[in-house]
Amino acid sequence: MIVMAEHAGFCFGVRRAVDGITDALRRNSEVWTIGLPIHNPQEVARLEALGLRIASSESEIPPGAVVIIRAHGEALGVLASLKARGVTVEDMTCPFVKKAQDKAAELSREGYYVVLLGDKNHPEIKGILGHVNDSAGAEVVADENEALNVKHHTKIALVSQTTQREERLERVAGILTGKCTELHVCNTICKATSQRQEAARKLVRENSLEGVVLIGGKSSANTGKLRDILESEGVNVLWVEDERDLEAESGWLEGKNMIGIAAGASTPEWLIDKVKNIIAAKQEVPRGLSNS
Ligand code: SF4
Repeated sequence: MIVMAEHAGFCFGVRRAVDGITDALRRNSEVWTIGLPIHNPQEVARLEALGLRIASSESEIPPGAVVIIRAHGEALGVLASLKARGVTVEDMTCPFVKKAQDKAAELSREGYYVVLLGDKNHPEIKGILGHVNDSAGAEVVADENEALNVKHHTKIALVSQTTQREERLERVAGILTGKCTELHVCNTICKATSQRQEAARKLVRENSLEGVVLIGGKSSANTGKLRDILESEGVNVLWVEDERDLEAESGWLEGKNMIGIAAGASTPEWLIDKVKNIIAAKQEVPRGLSNS
């Protein structure tokens, strides 16, 4: 038997951005993004086959090109540089990321020192950081340990990467309370993330599973967090990007009758279906018969 997590696959923001790129590719023979539009190699390959070009920085984009700003958003400096190059920009920044950018901009203008909770190398954090008013100052902390090193400031605003866990935000807020006279906490964690995290917990707690197949890109931060949650629930997890990964680990499925499926917010539905169908086909093979 296969049990699906209640929330799995594309979140609202990623679906919106992928639809935006697909739509732009119907109107233009080629469309650019800066960096990967989504942390899923299979979906990226599908879009590239339709004409998507991926630049590593704005300087690679030719004048007159059409550029889609991906769901992670971009720094204000990058948007200004694109404008100066005379390209057409279609902004598909996820509204939840936009909210974090706007909050960081607004609070830094009000004189708050901005502490961003997240991964300093993640494009979403770079984009949010790129909205902070230069004179206010800001830093990125990855966790509670790094929060302990934040220096004292009169006013601190804590803004989080949208994929952070609520518990960590609360613990970091607790630490920062002792490092300022006024703390403003912006919970900019998006529901899609917490819904998928809660669905992963429920999947394990409400079913007697022998394992969970987690589907998602290996560079996807939100899929990585789902893996951590599933493992902390004590279940055996097999993380696959696509059906080929599953085939390569087909021994893992042997003897398991109750399998759960969870998927990150950047995993397309067509990929989930492919993996699910393979698991179902293997489960249908009568005992004693090979399914090769
Ligand atoms: S995870 Fe949330 S914030 Fe990120 S793109 Fe999806 S809906 Fe937007």
